[in-house]
Amino acid sequence: DCKRRTRNGWQAFSADLARAQQDRLQIESQLRRAADHEEFRLVYQPQVDLRHGRVVAAEALIRWQNHQLGELRPDLFISHAESTGDIVRIGRWVMHEACRQVREWMDQGLGVVRVAINVSYRQFVGEDLAEQVREALAEFDLPGSALELEFTERVLIEDAPSTLQTFADLRDMGVVLTIDDFGEGYSALNYLRRLPIHGLKLSQLFVEGVPGNRSDVAVCEAVCGIARSLGLGLVAEGVESEAQRQFLLKLGVPVGQGFLFAPGLPPDEFARRLEELQLPQLTP
Ligand code: C2E
Ligand code: MG
Ligand code: MG
Ligand code: MG
Repeated sequence: DCKRRTRNGWQAFSADLARAQQDRLQIESQLRRAADHEEFRLVYQPQVDLRHGRVVAAEALIRWQNHQLGELRPDLFISHAESTGDIVRIGRWVMHEACRQVREWMDQGLGVVRVAINVSYRQFVGEDLAEQVREALAEFDLPGSALELEFTERVLIEDAPSTLQTFADLRDMGVVLTIDDFGEGYSALNYLRRLPIHGLKLSQLFVEGVPGNRSDVAVCEAVCGIARSLGLGLVAEGVESEAQRQFLLKLGVPVGQGFLFAPGLPPDEFARRLEELQLPQLTP
């Protein structure tokens, strides 16, 4: 009986492996054509002032609707796209689409909503990222401050020769630069001094455990201390509960993002939410 279970277990395991392999090949072959077939869209997650919930910005998150594979979340395909190099094309689309959306909201009278996009380390290597940003901003007549770039510590570790110059150029344009998932990777503290960045995003990996887990509390406090002493902005990711919001607020974290407030929303829903959440501010 035990043997049979093991063998069944193995069969299940190798079937899983085969399926995973199959999925990977499917994803990679479908990815190549996805951008041309308009299968991507962006959803927008509000970043809110933790005190009163006023929306201060949005993070654009990519979604992939594939006719064969269904809706895929980025965790399933971004790393494939990075290894095949498709991420460069996808990243260009994301930047263009986000800027187009900001312009559309402006034309609807919503004011300038700053949108943060996620930028892969591959977009820093051998690509003129600053020039791409300049072109996208110019096409939609946007100020640099309408755009924020979130990049992970991987960008710092890969350390392409042009990275420092790219950062300086982006900053000169007024683009906001933020390190995503701070604390998950190497946390190369040395770079925090060298790079002209504006802020950090406290990884949801640690937010998840507060206020109950002592080591998560300690990490949140430490990241908060780093941000404060270096004069950097701080956004807490993955805020799901009122207890977390209270804790972060007490710690002095100004801005949060998470399911407590809203998940990533389609553009028109985000616009509606923007007006709703803005309301308490306007009424005395
Ligand atoms: P991220 O940039 O750290 O984005 C935050 C992720 O956490 C999003 O997942 C978001 O939906 C999710 N999230 C937000 N609030 C909560 C919460 O309260 N609880 C929990 N458990 N999760 C929450 P998503 O959209 O699946 O994206 C995953 C990752 O994929 C992103 O992590 C980002 O690294 C990457 N990604 C997304 N869009 C893009 C893109 O356009 N380009 C690139 N290069 N990467 C992208
Ligand atoms: Mg992000
Ligand atoms: Mg993040
Ligand atoms: Mg993440």
